[in-house]
This record gives sequence, C-alpha cells and structure tokens, in this order.
Amino acid sequence: MKLTAFLRYFFGLLYPNLCAVCGNALSGREYICCLSCLYHLPRTNYWKEPGNPIEQIFWGLVPVEHVCALFFFSKGSRYRKLLHKLKYKGMPEIGVELGRQLGLELKNAPLYQCIDTIIPVPLHPKRQRRRGYNQSERIAAGIAQITGWKVNTSSLVRTRFTGTQTRKSRQERWENVSGAFALQDAAAITNRHVLLVDDVLTTGATMEACILQLKKAAGCKVSVATLACTKKTAAPVFGSPLTPAPADSDRHP
Ligand SMILES: [Zn+2]
Repeated sequence: MKLTAFLRYFFGLLYPNLCAVCGNALSGREYICCLSCLYHLPRTNYWKEPGNPIEQIFWGLVPVEHVCALFFFSKGSRYRKLLHKLKYKGMPEIGVELGRQLGLELKNAPLYQCIDTIIPVPLHPKRQRRRGYNQSERIAAGIAQITGWKVNTSSLVRTRFTGTQTRKSRQERWENVSGAFALQDAAAITNRHVLLVDDVLTTGATMEACILQLKKAAGCKVSVATLACTKKTAAPVFGSPLTPAPADSDRHP
C-alpha cells in the first residue's frame, strides 16, 4: 500500500466520511450520499413530463420551454438536509454532486436535447462573499460536467440585494425579487436555448424575474432545472385538474 493510500485509509478510520442524508459511514466508492439514500432519492421524473405541475406554475406568467426538478422535498424529509448543508453549512460539493445527478437525467431526456447554455441564478455579490460561493453555480458546474453544456455567469446579474424569501407568500416574493436581476451581454444568449438553474423551486417568483430578463435577448428560449421542488408547488395552481404529486417515497429502512 502506498503511503498516501495508507494515510487516507488510516484517517478514514478515525474520521469516516458520513452520508449527508442518513449519517451512516460512506464506503470508499460512495461520495456525499450513500448508495441507499441516492437510490431512494424521491426523483420527480418531470424531465420526462411536458406540462408537469411545476411547469404549469409559469403558464400565463412568462414563456418557458420545459421545467423540471431532480427531487421532491417535503417537511420532515431527510433529503431536506442536502439543501440545508449546501446553502448554509459551507458544503458546495453537495451542489456539484447533485448537479451531476441532474445532468445524468437531462443528458438522456429528449425534451432537453436543445439546451446549449446553462445560466445559474446569480447571488448578490454581498451574499456570495458571505457564503463563499454561489450554490447555483456549483449545481451548474455539476450539470456541465455530465452534459458538456457551457456555463454562462456573465449574462444575468443580480442588481439588488434581496432579503430571505423564506416564509413569504408568492406576492411578497415577487415584490421582493421583481427588478432584482438585469441582462448583460445579451449577444451571448441571442438565439440560444438557456437552462436556468437554481437549488429550489417553490413559488417560481425568482425564476420568473430571471426569465423576464433573459427573454430580452432576441430569440432566447429558456428552460428551468432545479435540484428540488416542494410538493406544495406540485398542487393545482390554476384550478385545473393536474397530475397529483407522487406519494412520499423518500423513506426507507
Ligand atoms: Zn445515506
């Protein structure tokens, strides 16, 4: 055994890497999540479903091609921890790894074959300095590793610092983010199909504000992909009979 491999093995015994979801020790081949938690991730499969419930959030508000999220998260779900650690516990590597998982789905999804550019939702520079990274950029990097799509961080900028969106109604969220973004370097996305990426889709207000800016570029099409969406957003939005959200399937012994 080489010295570096021995040291890795030795420190692994003292400080085992733990699964970010269930807390069990990870084996040498596992990263971030154990295989069991990854297998039981409550995937939405929305990348296969045109007109899915989260796509319908945008209907009548802003033109959008396709909308999907990798997994559902609900109150009490242990998969919420992934998002919390990604955003507030200084673990950007969770964004990259889950971005790769999302990339694996999108790479094989017929609906997403026309994407050519990924744009992560920008953070205000002040918040990015505080956090040390933009979680959406980390997710975009993971998607790009798998799909080969280019990441563009220059065309969409955040011009206004907005407070937290948590515990706000859709109207309040819209008032909070409306006008917080601006389009720069429109030529870079002219006639492009952009995949707009964020960590969570709840009311869609942030995405709507971003899409309004991106659509200022001539011929720009926009699709949306996030790591997670709440089951709340999968409920009927405009009173039409929509597909019910799948049953909670993120639990396993
Ligand atoms: Zn686990």
